[in-house]
Parts: sequence; structure tokens; C-alpha cells
Amino acid sequence: GRKFVVGGNWKMNGTKKQVDEILDFLKKGPLNADTEVIVGVPAVYLDYVKCNAPPGVEVAAQNCYKAEKGAFTGEISALMLKDINVGWVILGHSERRQIFGETDDLIAEKVAFALDSGLKVIACIGETLQEREAGKTEEVVFRQIQAIANKIKDWTNVVIAYEPVWAIGTGKTATPEQAQEVHKALRGYICEKISPSVAESVRIQYGGSVTGANCKDLGAKPDIDGFLVGGASLKPEFVQIVNARQ
Ligand code: 13P
Repeated sequence: GRKFVVGGNWKMNGTKKQVDEILDFLKKGPLNADTEVIVGVPAVYLDYVKCNAPPGVEVAAQNCYKAEKGAFTGEISALMLKDINVGWVILGHSERRQIFGETDDLIAEKVAFALDSGLKVIACIGETLQEREAGKTEEVVFRQIQAIANKIKDWTNVVIAYEPVWAIGTGKTATPEQAQEVHKALRGYICEKISPSVAESVRIQYGGSVTGANCKDLGAKPDIDGFLVGGASLKPEFVQIVNARQ
């Protein structure tokens, strides 16, 4: 079976004091040992969180560049993340796509570079409201997955996060049925275009207004293998979400 995996994406939030408060509720837990837990931390706090997170809580950067070093002012390299023992990176988040203009191709290059550097990747995909209303949800998420599939061979260290853009930060969670439908379609696409074994083993998280209140119903769906949590990952409620499958 696929190990349940819950990520907290803190986005551009937190002060050192708030980071300590989050670390406190993570330490207190208790966190289901059968669930993989990853916190996505702003770059300036990565080293601190890596050094102070309780055992079993892994740490992710929220972005990194596709070169190992050089004249890329403001960017962070995968090798730097490795250097401070950060094991994961979130790539292709819809905010990176929409606000910072990241394309499918750039994201795929970043995913490939991060994997080659030894990082594990949470690769985010998802349609906008306009795309959903135009009946293009599958077309969009298949295109986003295919862009990555064109650049990588080994999916072992990839987790896919399906995050419908209309559900992010809006309180409008996809229903468990809506999410399951897309997760199942994605697995079908991966089975056909990549391989049956990748389709069977790759974990697909749902993200978008996940809360303590809705996580159990979402987590009960067969193709939902965890969550990528934004706002609620800053609050003690995150512990409940980690334990959704208990
Ligand atoms: P919210 O949980 O705040 O809707 O954010 C989801 C998200 O974007 C996680 O990456």
C-alpha cells in the first residue's frame, strides 16, 4: 500500500516565534507513525526547523532552482538544501505558476534537477475555476503531469499534489467525490502513459482548504494518499489532519 503522506505548506508565513509554536504542537502531537509528515518551510527558517523538528517530521523547501550554483540572484539551489539536510522540495505550486509565471516546462526542469540532486519532490498540479467550468480539468492536469513525465524516468521520490486552484485558500474544498474523481483519472493517465507500477505506487495528495473537519472524509477515498495543507498547517489542527487515517 501507499504510505499516507501529509505536507504542511506554510507559504510565506511565520515569524521565529510562530515557528517555535508550530514546532511545539508538532512535538506534542501525537502524530500517527504510519503517516509521513513533511513541513514546507520558508527558506530563511529551513535550517532552524531542520535542526529543531521532532523526529519523524521531515522538512521541505517551497521552491528551488534548476542549477547547482551561480549567477542566479535570489535563488536557492537543490545542493544547498542537501547541504543543510533538507530532504524535500515543493515544486510547481499554483502560486509559483500564477504569481511568478512558472511554466510547465520550467517546473519539469526543476523537478528533474531536484531529483537528480537527491531531493524528494512534491510536484503540484491543478486546474483553475475557469478551466474546471470549461470542462478542462483532466486536460489541464494531464498536461501538467506529462510535462514532468517528459523530463524524468524514476517516480520513486515524487509525490504528486493535486490542488485545484479554486479550492486553495478559499474555504471551498473539493468534495471527496470531486477529488477522488480527479485522483482516479490521474492514476489512469499515469498507468497508460507512464507505467502501471508507477500508477500503483505514486502517492497523490489532495490540497485546497483541507481542515480538521473535512480531512477524514477526503482521506477515506481510495486514491487520496494524503494532503498538502496550507492555512491549517499553521495551527494545532494540523495534528488532526496528519491523523486523518487513524
Ligand atoms: P489552503 O489549505 O490554505 O487552501 O492551501 C492549500 C495549498 O495551497 C497547499 O499547498
